[in-house]
Amino acid sequence: MATRSDTSAAVHAKFEPVIGLEVHVQLLTATKIFCSCSTRFGAPPNSNVCPVCLGMPGALPVLNSKAVEFAALAASALNCRINETSIFARKNYFYPDLPKGYQISQYDKPVAEFGFIEIPSGTGRKKIGITRVHMEEDAGKSLHEGFADSDEKTAIDLNRTGVPLIEIVSEPDISSPDEAYEYLTRLKEIILYTGVSDCNMEEGSLRADANVSVRPRGQKEFGTKTEIKNVNSFRFIREALEYEIARQIEVIEDGGKITQETRLYNANEGKTYGMRSKEQAHDYRYFPEPDLLPLVIDEKWKAEIARQLPELPEARRGRMVKEYAITEYDAQVLTFSKSLADQFEEAARAAKNPKRVANLVQSELMGRLKAKGIDIAQSPISMRGVAASADLVESGTISGKMLKDLYDLSFERGKDFPVVYEEEGRPQQSTDTSALEKVIDEILAANPKQLEQYRAGKKTMLGFFVGQVMKASKGQANPQIVNELLARKLG
Ligand code: ADP
Ligand code: ZN
Ligand code: MG
Repeated sequence: MATRSDTSAAVHAKFEPVIGLEVHVQLLTATKIFCSCSTRFGAPPNSNVCPVCLGMPGALPVLNSKAVEFAALAASALNCRINETSIFARKNYFYPDLPKGYQISQYDKPVAEFGFIEIPSGTGRKKIGITRVHMEEDAGKSLHEGFADSDEKTAIDLNRTGVPLIEIVSEPDISSPDEAYEYLTRLKEIILYTGVSDCNMEEGSLRADANVSVRPRGQKEFGTKTEIKNVNSFRFIREALEYEIARQIEVIEDGGKITQETRLYNANEGKTYGMRSKEQAHDYRYFPEPDLLPLVIDEKWKAEIARQLPELPEARRGRMVKEYAITEYDAQVLTFSKSLADQFEEAARAAKNPKRVANLVQSELMGRLKAKGIDIAQSPISMRGVAASADLVESGTISGKMLKDLYDLSFERGKDFPVVYEEEGRPQQSTDTSALEKVIDEILAANPKQLEQYRAGKKTMLGFFVGQVMKASKGQANPQIVNELLARKLG
């Protein structure tokens, strides 16, 4: 970890970090925000372009209503207020991958404001404010690598130019790198549930910039912030923040001043470096985009969007805990993705005992997945498979031990539970009472001391005998029948 050894914990404790995050999310529309070019990732360079997204003089933008819906849907999921009227604005700057010389964004009238995300904090929860959600177009991509003849060249791919983005700006309410990590995790989860983005960080569908400053504890005014840009995983953002907080504290403790600047994180070294910024002047000369009308989302459209809002992960977990009598942790695992949660609920509702389905996921599935190093989305046993196995145990057809063995076979063969159950010839646990009675007699004869204790009134010994019989039958016996037979014999 990047924490500097020469700044003691006591010095750290004197300071409080202040963090605000700016997250760009690419919207999953089929076409770009102001033209009908495809947004498909990985197309040959400069194949998805037209006069509008190339910034040809005189070409006029036309707003994609799907992008507006997606932006408003995400903003609603983030508890924002949707503004009835918002204004597109030109953000002027020069960059080789920005052919128009300006980016169409939103400035003082964004599409949504005043939201929040709840994150776990200690034993409770903490609200992190969301200042605004605004819409904008993406810029192109500069490619600096992969040239056969020279490393000195840069190529420009304008396929990404005009792809719709939302930027989600948080209040400076985040007080630690762990909270920043938590915020990003929740944010991504919520956006994924709405379905408006795939949030794929490798493909740049989700990009997060972290603003951070420190101040002496108790001080009201914020310190000078730095902005860490282009970090490509949540884990690295947490590390970068840890390093940057330690660095700032050290500068201040040494009597220095923090310079407001953009910094880059080198994950190999675990350090941030100051970078000369293209935005040093910080004057984008924003003005309202003259080629677009104000965006109006009226009550009718708002209501339509509200109807599309799915049950969000936090609420869903709360409901699942109640509905299936499972733990918070179970609910967390089962809502890993919307699709998994949907599959689970569909299977659990069809099963005889939904709680048993949830229990089997926890007790039998998760450990095997972990041992194999795969996540639940790649499980050989589907949620339907788990439900089928739960029903077989519920009806007494198979024992818990048999289920374990069948699960092992499923993982070995990479086949779903019902397939393996068929392959094994639909095994059933032994309900042959005469054979069981023989086993019970043997167990009772072999354990005279325990038998005496039972007869002297220690009724808990029954459990001991059941266990012994189950063991002797290698788990094939039906525990309920064993219980009944034992109770009768001990009578
Ligand atoms: P800028 O004008 O530099 O873009 P903003 O006020 O728009 O700054 O804020 C950008 C982001 O930085 C927001 O997420 C905000 O919460 C955060 N932020 C603002 N001031 C500070 C500060 N002093 N320390 C840490 N984060 C800050
Ligand atoms: Zn285009
Ligand atoms: Mg700003």
